[in-house]
Amino acid sequence: MLNIALFGAPGAGKGTQSSYLINKYGLSYISTGEILRNELKSNSKLGLEAKSIIESGGLVSDEIIVQIIEKFMLEHQDSKGFLFDGFPRTYIQAYILEGLLMKLHSSLFALLNINIDDNEAIKRLLLRGENSGRADDNLEVIQQRLLAYHEKTVPVLDFYKEKGNLVNIDGIGSIKDIQKRISKSLEASLSQQWMNIVLHGAPGSGRATYGKRLAKEFNLEYISTGDILQDEISAKGKYASEITQYMNKGTHVPDEIVVRLLEKRIAQKPKTNGFLFKGFPRTMIQAYILDGLLRKHHTNINTVINFDVPSLELISRLEKRGKTKNAMPYDKSIESIVNRLREHDKKTSQVLNFYKKQNKVIDVDGTLSKDETYQNLKNIIQQELKRKRD
Ligand code: AMP
Repeated sequence: MLNIALFGAPGAGKGTQSSYLINKYGLSYISTGEILRNELKSNSKLGLEAKSIIESGGLVSDEIIVQIIEKFMLEHQDSKGFLFDGFPRTYIQAYILEGLLMKLHSSLFALLNINIDDNEAIKRLLLRGENSGRADDNLEVIQQRLLAYHEKTVPVLDFYKEKGNLVNIDGIGSIKDIQKRISKSLEASLSQQWMNIVLHGAPGSGRATYGKRLAKEFNLEYISTGDILQDEISAKGKYASEITQYMNKGTHVPDEIVVRLLEKRIAQKPKTNGFLFKGFPRTMIQAYILDGLLRKHHTNINTVINFDVPSLELISRLEKRGKTKNAMPYDKSIESIVNRLREHDKKTSQVLNFYKKQNKVIDVDGTLSKDETYQNLKNIIQQELKRKRD
């Protein structure tokens, strides 16, 4: 879903620019002002409640607005995305929007702030008033609307500035010029969006081998939590001695440490197209953690690639690996290999189901030749990249 909100003083050109965005991205458009005006026209209960407020240039209560927005979003759940016009208009409404989009497992991609000053707003609205038939396009009400805008609506900008998805657009110029500015800024932001993939599969299924190759080819950051822990030890980092103790005991390193290190890596925001995670998440708790870590950067997991390899084939591969210099301590006997595979399956099947419910899992046959498997993986990523850009 691509969700965008149009923001700006009354008269900034939000409605005017909306048709371009609706067509280009196939968005469902909702203008709270337009809905309220229709309610007013039809003399509905809602219309009557809002009438005097709109006519005096004030803001309708958040309660009424939530009802309108929620109803519209529920009716358009299958939409490719939403274009909000005139919402969120208060700091509270910004939180409301977060909650409503979260319900749809989505979030606001950008708040497009079309900037004009008050004099320009007054000039444009008076001109519009000559034809619009809107009862609120007269000087007295315009001034009240601008007052409400500065007092209650401008603080919304801080909300998105802090989140990092505020896009400022100079609103002075021809309609075409402003449209071009919007298009340029949005395209730049869209291309910066990360593509995050989890490589899921049993030990020996090929996640690392293919993962590193894919990372190079698609300019993605390969993140293996095992490697991160090793790096922390080599760099003699803050957690090095603790990690070593856990590893020497043969126990898992606690999530508290893994999270801190992952958080640091993600926050470095590499100039790449996103992340390829290997070896994480292994448990449901880790799946929730990863969601939270990515959410902080306004992104999420797009795809989970599941390497499908039958157990017998895995055992044979790991046994072979046990005889090479790449052998892991647990590759040494059939018994430990079988135990490890069983343990892995028990823990991670829940994680796989979690992503399956979100329709994010793509199975890859890991028994084909190396070239065939790699080609299939490449196709998946290419398709996902294309889907994100379409
Ligand atoms: P607009 O068409 O966006 O200029 O909205 C016209 C009028 O509808 C505003 O002046 C408000 O009285 C009311 N309104 C529209 N959207 C909202 C909102 N999100 N919150 C509160 N009042 C709104």
